[in-house]
Order: sequence, then structure tokens, then C-alpha cells
Amino acid sequence: MALPLGHAVAGWSLCLLVANPKRIEWRAAALVGLLTVVADFDLLASFLLPFPAGRYWHHTVTHTFAFGLLTWVVAGGVFWLARGKASWREAGLVALLVASHTVVDYFTVDESEPRGVPLFWPLNTEFYIAAHPWFLNIQRQDLWHLLSWHNVRAVVGELLVTGPMLALSFAWWRFYPPCRRRQPGWPWKPRHGSRS
Ligand SMILES: [Zn+2]
Repeated sequence: MALPLGHAVAGWSLCLLVANPKRIEWRAAALVGLLTVVADFDLLASFLLPFPAGRYWHHTVTHTFAFGLLTWVVAGGVFWLARGKASWREAGLVALLVASHTVVDYFTVDESEPRGVPLFWPLNTEFYIAAHPWFLNIQRQDLWHLLSWHNVRAVVGELLVTGPMLALSFAWWRFYPPCRRRQPGWPWKPRHGSRS
């Protein structure tokens, strides 16, 4: 798995390109970061369920495109409950951010079997991983592994890949004609009097 920071930076880049927000807000950025790591909540099973059952939950149903689709429906429902109408475009952005996690994990080194992520479950149970992963895996067996040189290289590597990605999407957002920016552009703020 990649670090939450790598997932968050990829999510911010995606948001600047797709959501095209009127302005950048730190609370919105924090929520975007959170959405990009929702899939890793399956790690909780590792702590809550006895070994080895919990271990086998990680990199399963939450790391699929089907889970992204599910969050689209759930987010649409939440927007509908909150505003009295579903905003499928904004719900789609939520789903895109959640699914971006699976794509980043696809490009991450994985040393535990089965390697990779089951992208197309339930259509098939195959696990997929990039032939040449961009990100190193994070070793987290214990504190010594967490503080290892390997993990330092993983963090630096993630920033070297996602940093330029964020810089490019920020530049695109910065020079995109402001009059064409969407208000609010982020997926959770209520739209007062604006059409979706
Ligand atoms: Zn993951």
C-alpha cells in the first residue's frame, strides 16, 4: 500500500482537474484527502478480527471499481437526503476520489500474496498489479520497520511522483479562465440557488 499522503496528493490533483473549484479551501482539501483513503478502512478488520481472518479483508472489496460505483450511489443518496435532490455529478466526484485509491494501489509494490488489487471484482476474482509499479510498499510490521530506510525511500518516491502531478494540475487550475470555474466545485458544499 502507498502512504495516505500519496493518495491524498493524487486526489487533490484529480480534484483540481475535474472539480475545477472556484477557490481552494483547507477543509475541502482535508475531506478530499479523507475520501482517497476510505478504501483502506478495511485495515480496521486487521485489528478488530482475530488473525488470520482480519488480515484477509485488506485489499479486497474496498479495492475494486465496484466499491467506487457503490460510493457513487451512496453519496448520491446522502446529497439527496441533505438537499432534497441527488447531485450525481458531485457524487461522481466522490466516487472518483474513492476509486483513485485503488488505481494508486495498482501502481504500488505489493509483496504479500495475492499481489495487487481485485480491480474487477465481482466480475472476476483476479488480482492486478502494474508490471512496473511507481510506488514502493510501506513496511509496517512494527515500529522499526515503520521507521526504516525503505519507508523513507517510499515517502520520497511518492512525493517525487505525485508532487509534479499536483504542480501540473495546480498550474492548469490557476490559469484556467476563472469565469468558467464551477461554484462551489467541491462535492459537499450545499448549492444555494445554483443549478447542478
Ligand atoms: Zn489501499
